Amino acid sequence: MNAVGTGAPLAERARAAIPGGVNSGQRSVPGITDLVVARAEGARFFDTEGRAYTDYHAAFGPQLLGHNDPDVSAAVAAVIREVDLCGVGVTPGEIELAERLIELVPSFEQVLLTSTGSEATFHALRLSRAVTGRRLVVKFQGCYHGWHDAVSLNVISAEDALNRPDPISAGILPEVLESTVVLPFNDAEAVRRLFADHGDQIAGVIVEPVPHNIGCVLPTDEFLITLREQTTQHGAILIFDEVITGFRHALGGWQEISGITPDLTTLGKAFANGFPLGAIGGRADLMQQFSSRPGGSAFFAGTYNGAPVVVAAALATLTKLTEQPVHEHTFRLGELARAGLREVFAELDLPAVVTGYGSIFVSYFMPGPAPRTYSDLLANRADLFVGYRRKLIERGIFELPLNLKRSHISYAHTESDIEQLIDGTRDAVRAALSETTELGAGASTMGGLVRES
Ligand code: PMP
Repeated sequence: MNAVGTGAPLAERARAAIPGGVNSGQRSVPGITDLVVARAEGARFFDTEGRAYTDYHAAFGPQLLGHNDPDVSAAVAAVIREVDLCGVGVTPGEIELAERLIELVPSFEQVLLTSTGSEATFHALRLSRAVTGRRLVVKFQGCYHGWHDAVSLNVISAEDALNRPDPISAGILPEVLESTVVLPFNDAEAVRRLFADHGDQIAGVIVEPVPHNIGCVLPTDEFLITLREQTTQHGAILIFDEVITGFRHALGGWQEISGITPDLTTLGKAFANGFPLGAIGGRADLMQQFSSRPGGSAFFAGTYNGAPVVVAAALATLTKLTEQPVHEHTFRLGELARAGLREVFAELDLPAVVTGYGSIFVSYFMPGPAPRTYSDLLANRADLFVGYRRKLIERGIFELPLNLKRSHISYAHTESDIEQLIDGTRDAVRAALSETTELGAGASTMGGLVRES
């Protein structure tokens, strides 16, 4: 099937010159072979044939303001007339951004910039080992923390927890896997048992406070409280990976919403609206280990860290997020979308769970209640999840047709976009249901691993 784009000659050139034809793992989606994107603006992107797609994929999440936000673009255009990367000292923009982040994010006493979320999470995990002198890091089933990851969905009972998880890639050292423990999300008891048995070996715990890499699974209060209590009690570092939840759900991230303050936090995606920026911040005594001055024990570097264009994009994004009703608008449209989609599935008499938070929504095709763990999601019908999204794309509405991927609403989306989404979903689900026998093959692309580009 090739519902999208007719960029075939260009796409063929891409496949010849670029492994897989794309520059990041999951940009290559089964069923979409020839999509070449030419332009993006507001709530839409356009292919080389000029066909418009109302975009709920949002490049896996950065564009909370919408594509090519005019204020962000103007800030970037202004800074490139003044300064580019000099790689020595610091720019006023970097200082201002650090100070604003410290004001906004509860756990931040100090902060460092990276270019990607993966760098931020890698540094956080390394720092947890550096300061504790311990080996084990704890992750949770369904969470993704970057390309250096080793997460498997397959482990998991507390007894199994120290078994080596499956690698996400060939080439990862067995020692890394042996030093990684994967527990079920939302299982406070498994966390308590692991710490009781191995607490003195655990360097850090990293968690997506809302595992959005499998759509949307909301944390229980007990789970997050237990993480905080156990890490504190056993001298381990608690890391919230807020690369998706940061800024999108609240200016201070999920830690502001939950009231649980981690030791370290990683950020990315929404805070520069699509420009490549990540951050790691947290307790000053920990962050000081990254200092290049005496006293720092952990190495931190990056040629492009704090590049003026990216910093300008972030400052303009934060200004807009702070001064305009971005959250109010996107949360209202999120509620409209979720309510409308629930009605559609009830009309169609189709077992479905429509969930999400704020500007994020996802429809799982399974009976309720809302999932609490990755295992709950095994009941989701991957054929229908992927199948209706392929049909939606034919109607000019883009939700990524990969199993368990969430969808995003931006400040540029309108109520009328959401009405079209709801009507389009009704038609697309009907069309997919009539073809479900054809949909089985290739519909589930998770391959047992949580991956995201
Ligand atoms: N953490 C989370 C929660 C993510 O979703 C991602 C990317 N999807 C990353 C880390 C890695 O970020 P990046 O792709 O910018 O390296």
